[in-house]
Amino acid sequence: MSDRIDWNSIENKWIKKWDEQKLFQADPDSRNKYFVTVAYPYPNSPQHIGHGRTYTLADAHARYMRMKGYNVLFPMGFHYTGTPILAMSRRVAAGDSELMDTFHKIYKLSDDVISTFVEPIKIASYFHNEIKAGMKEMGYSIDWRREFTTIDKMYSKFISWQFRTLRKKGLIVQGSHPVGWCPRDQNPVSQHDTMGDVEPDFNEYTVIKFRSGDSILPAATLRPETLFGVTNMWVNPDVDYVQAKVDGEKWIVSKEAARKLEFLNHKVEVIKTVRGKEIIGQSATNPVNDSAVPVYPASFVEADSGTGIVMSVPAHAPYDYQALEDLKADKRTQKELGISVDVDPVIIIGSEEYSGIPAREAIKQVGATGQNDVKLEKATSDLYSREFYKGKMMENTGRFAGMTVAVAKNEVKQGLMKSGAAATMYELVSKPVKCRCGTECVVKLLSDQWFLNYGNKEWKGLAHECATNMDIVPQDIRQEFDYVIDWLRERACARKSGLGTKLPWDEEWIIESLSDSVIYMAYYVIAKYVDSKSLSDDSINDAFFDYVLLGIGNANQVAKECKVPMQIVEQIRKEFGYFYPVDSRHSGRDLVPNHLTFFIFNHVAIFEKENWPRQIVVNGSVLMEGKKMSKSLGNIIPLRAAIKEHGADILRLAILVSAEILQDADFSFDTIRGIRSKLVGIFEMVEKCRKPQAAGTELEDRWLASRLQRAIAETATSMDRLRVREAIHYILYSLEQDLQWYLKRTAAKGRENVSGTLSEFLNVQVRMLAPFAPFTAEEVWERMGNRESITTAGWPVINENKIDPVAEESEFLISSLLVDLENIVKVTKITSSKIAVYTSAGWKEQVYKTILANILDGKTNFGEIMKQLIANPETAKAKTDPKLVQKMMEDILSTPLDARKRRLKLAGFAEATAIQDATSLLSGEINKAQIVVYSEENSSKYDPKSKAKSARPFKPALYME
Ligand SMILES: [Zn+2]
Repeated sequence: MSDRIDWNSIENKWIKKWDEQKLFQADPDSRNKYFVTVAYPYPNSPQHIGHGRTYTLADAHARYMRMKGYNVLFPMGFHYTGTPILAMSRRVAAGDSELMDTFHKIYKLSDDVISTFVEPIKIASYFHNEIKAGMKEMGYSIDWRREFTTIDKMYSKFISWQFRTLRKKGLIVQGSHPVGWCPRDQNPVSQHDTMGDVEPDFNEYTVIKFRSGDSILPAATLRPETLFGVTNMWVNPDVDYVQAKVDGEKWIVSKEAARKLEFLNHKVEVIKTVRGKEIIGQSATNPVNDSAVPVYPASFVEADSGTGIVMSVPAHAPYDYQALEDLKADKRTQKELGISVDVDPVIIIGSEEYSGIPAREAIKQVGATGQNDVKLEKATSDLYSREFYKGKMMENTGRFAGMTVAVAKNEVKQGLMKSGAAATMYELVSKPVKCRCGTECVVKLLSDQWFLNYGNKEWKGLAHECATNMDIVPQDIRQEFDYVIDWLRERACARKSGLGTKLPWDEEWIIESLSDSVIYMAYYVIAKYVDSKSLSDDSINDAFFDYVLLGIGNANQVAKECKVPMQIVEQIRKEFGYFYPVDSRHSGRDLVPNHLTFFIFNHVAIFEKENWPRQIVVNGSVLMEGKKMSKSLGNIIPLRAAIKEHGADILRLAILVSAEILQDADFSFDTIRGIRSKLVGIFEMVEKCRKPQAAGTELEDRWLASRLQRAIAETATSMDRLRVREAIHYILYSLEQDLQWYLKRTAAKGRENVSGTLSEFLNVQVRMLAPFAPFTAEEVWERMGNRESITTAGWPVINENKIDPVAEESEFLISSLLVDLENIVKVTKITSSKIAVYTSAGWKEQVYKTILANILDGKTNFGEIMKQLIANPETAKAKTDPKLVQKMMEDILSTPLDARKRRLKLAGFAEATAIQDATSLLSGEINKAQIVVYSEENSSKYDPKSKAKSARPFKPALYME
């Protein structure tokens, strides 16, 4: 480390102080409250830098709101529920070498610790402590009095109450529904259970039964309405198919399909294996119109996709069109298999999108060649969505003619299902999905399983209402929520194994982890009383939760029934009323399709409207030097190790500064170094503020104070939208630039009396830094002589009186003048000993203001402006120099809008005064030259080359010799 700052000891000092001062303990009081929560962690591994982002952003948000004067509650719990911890302990018991490697090399665990992990609870409690210690070291301002785990007895009672309440409302149903499934664990799987955290999402296919002799050739399709355009069937000649009895019918499907059908509760008995080649050339009957279609070979048909048999609709399916073209051109294969291909595409859907054969056009648009070209995927989805939204069934589709595709799709399917000519089948969308145990997942039709009925229309309506009235940050993600709310259906909410709460009315089931983690924010209120032992779980029943969380029943009776002092019951009810609803919920983007949407659903089902959540904040993930973090790349850095090495504040800033909210943040060591030097600079500033002096009143003092007010306003605007990258930029970089200018100006003047101005500057900067770098901010604040925590010092408030347009304009003029002079020196290589600066004549100022007013009004016509100038005696002189007017227009058009507005209202600004004030600086920077300032109107000016007449307002003329 290059600096002398001992970051870790500063961190330890403040962690201890905050704890002693109980700074982050929030209890109801007379202030407005703000309740921030972030998804509680799973303790099955230590946190790494990637986890740091969501938590650090939530903490910065909590700290910002606290400084704005809110009574902020920011609590934390630990999510033990589910199968991951169980699966991990099994892998430990089996001595899984990959896992051991991770434990040794990445987490640096000793064998003694690892050997205890055969007990699942030991894993949970070990990483729980590890994560908690890391959160403290990162400076998270958490009220630890409310900590809990999801296997605490009281929490289980709370979850039982949640489930009984949902069931009473008819939102939990028992039935047969498809779920993602691990055949080895015999358990449903959700995102938390899969490798790479993939949501096991699936599609519903319609299986159309084509008769062929005494067998059925079943074809799975997402587009049953295209059945009228089937010209043939596709079978892969090189795939093994089986002839099997499926629910009493004789089906021919791929081996893989036979297995999938079993998981979907079909009775499947395999009779014999059939090579794909043997089926080719047969004829099959289309159930929708009894037409006979031939079976042809195609290599794009995959054994593991659908049934392994495909119905061919060449006019509307790019794969089919391309395979047909390929086959027509391939005379050899035709001869080998003894077939002759004589079918043509049949168009059955019309839309404005296509004029010829839709599939052919879609293929042309993506430029695919051959049936194994991946571009056909895109052609397929393009065509599908266009026809789904804009297509109509044509005359050749019988009673469906004239229907939209969206309607016909369903009608055709229902008709076939009724007559027994179709069935349904489910297929995982992003195959392969692997369970954490390593087994490939399937879709299973679970019977007698318990489901949360997210398909319920009324429930969806309320969820939409909540989302619509909620603040979603960033706004762009709102439609993703609407989409998920529409798309969700029944979801399995219980498992046969894992940690968690038993389903209260059917105790062989355990409530799964994405169902017991949706309203727990309310439990933080209760947890405080459990942790302080003022509430015991012994006699607590539903009446307690009904009263404290919903206001149902009366305190007296609840107190008696649950053996809790009446006063405690009332206090909890009041505290819930004070802190609820959740004001801001922070989470990662990957949780939009499940957790965050379930959070909305469950709140609207259980709580009164006034207690529905108010804001959701979604952020992206973290890359490591541009790469995804992964165990295989070995670039996962555990958070605690990183804190030890770099310091918590530097990490916090490096994680937050690299991206705006939804983008992936890129963590890099260059950023770390850059941030460190900025923080060191702030520590060094304290020394410069030591002398007790009043703030200066010179031009540059007034300027710095004015810039500071603007930074306060801009930073607050960014923070209110949680654009933290922008906020940090103002605090660390823009202000730093201003400070450097101030130091340059005062050094040139040889001023000693800068301590007052610098100390005012640092006072504001460090308070704005506090939410992001709390340790540095506290330490600097204390070294500046403050006794109270910076948290209580409040967010800086703008002092309008200190906004000083004249000072801003003056310093702007000086710095532009300096740049101009430096450029001239660079280009001409003149080493001048004397520089004359000419400010423009008074009448030019009037001309400038007239042009400026016109341009701000949107009028930029030269002739019109000229006419106006000539009409006014004060500016009539412009007539003699139209080029000057032209130049002033150009000057103004290249000036930023805010500066234009400032200049129009500017009063009391004198260019000469500003330049005179900076002669020491200008001279010092330019060869110690003598600087003289004249007005263009000064008759005794030194002007050997007649430069003065070209002076313009804000653009003084220059002469160097
Ligand atoms: Zn598994």
